[in-house]
Amino acid sequence: MNFDKFVSKVKGVRQQSDLLQNRITKEIPNREDLLVETVEQLNTSLEELHVAEEELLQQNEQLVEYQQEINNERQRYQELFDFAPDAYLITDTYGKILEANRAASQLLTIERKKLAGKLIIIFVPQATRREFRKKLRYLYERKQIKDWEIDLQNYQKNSFNCEISASSINDKNGRCVGMRWLLRDVSARKLAEAKIRFVELQNFKLKESSRLKSQILAVLSHELRTPLNAVIGFSDVLLRLNRNQFTPQSLNIIKTIIRNGKELLKLINNMLDFAGLEEGKLTLHLQKFNIKELIGKITDDLYFFANQKNICLETHINIQNVIVINDPIRLQQLLSNLVYNAIKFTETGSVSVELEELNEDKIIITIQDTGIGISDIDLKHIFQAFRQVNQTITRTSQGTGLGLAIVKDLLVLMGGTITVESLVGEGSTFRVELPRAVNS
Ligand code: ADP
Repeated sequence: MNFDKFVSKVKGVRQQSDLLQNRITKEIPNREDLLVETVEQLNTSLEELHVAEEELLQQNEQLVEYQQEINNERQRYQELFDFAPDAYLITDTYGKILEANRAASQLLTIERKKLAGKLIIIFVPQATRREFRKKLRYLYERKQIKDWEIDLQNYQKNSFNCEISASSINDKNGRCVGMRWLLRDVSARKLAEAKIRFVELQNFKLKESSRLKSQILAVLSHELRTPLNAVIGFSDVLLRLNRNQFTPQSLNIIKTIIRNGKELLKLINNMLDFAGLEEGKLTLHLQKFNIKELIGKITDDLYFFANQKNICLETHINIQNVIVINDPIRLQQLLSNLVYNAIKFTETGSVSVELEELNEDKIIITIQDTGIGISDIDLKHIFQAFRQVNQTITRTSQGTGLGLAIVKDLLVLMGGTITVESLVGEGSTFRVELPRAVNS
């Protein structure tokens, strides 16, 4: 029921009552039935009026509720506006500030009440004011600007990098009557971005120089290997064919040439492997083989070395299924490295190699020694290339510091892991966990 309807209803009742009054005065005065009928009709009309009044009252209550809701909403938006972390401004179409929130007053370093009435352009440095005016026109015509970056200056004339998003406020005909602005100080972000870019560039340069280093290493090692193989080969031939013609001194010289040549070759091979692994060029040639036999071969090869040092070299094979899928040459290289180190860094006692299975899919090879051990601090670095612990000790033992780096990289290729436990003066335990079947 709206107000007009209610008024017409009241009008209707009034007409009805006038009509009835006319009839009573004109028609026979003492007619009781007419009086009763009149009163009844009046009652009916009154009831209708009551219903209409009730309806109006209800509508009125609803209107009060709506009004309250609107007030609450307005309050909420005002609070959101006031306490928003970003700076918000409302301006007219010329950029004159009508309203500003707290963040805006903080950003522009001026009290809110003083902000009102000022032109937003006074916070734009002279050099960029033309650009700003152009953007203002653009905003007026196109109704929106997004993430526009410009230098602003606060009331103290300190400039900062600002990101602006703005939209027009339109009347019901779509005509722009004002503008709302969101200002965000992005100086810190810009600085961080610049820093990231700098670090990325440094990173790129580092990667590039590391790649170049690996390439030089690979080429150099390759070029060295051929003549070195010839030196070792010819010295060997010399020794075998003319052994009786040499004096003991000459024989010793040739043997030293061969020994040092072989050491050098080992070093070059290590460098080649490492360069290949670092460049991701090294691939595994997978095949099925008997791991027990492989471990036997490794310990046989190193038996002489251990014997020379009076070290007991033991193997313990606790495995049911001895067949694995892996690259036998690379696995031999990996395990030989660990066993060789164990013997190299042990002066008395023993070195043991144990093979067991963790479950159907995994095998474990443990290399344990009673050698010099590795301190906790050094343990963190031993897998890094060219890292050798305690130079005074290792200087007596030969090595490049590449062995464990190669072991680690090979294990990554094989999908395996390595852990070390060690106590200085008591010995070390290297535990290699490998999938029984390595994935290609
Ligand atoms: P290196 O060619 O010097 O042996 P590795 O990469 O194989 O290089 O080993 C790095 C360093 O880790 C070694 O120089 C040595 O100090 C330490 N290390 C490796 N294995 C053992 C071990 N079993 N006992 C004590 N120290 C070890």
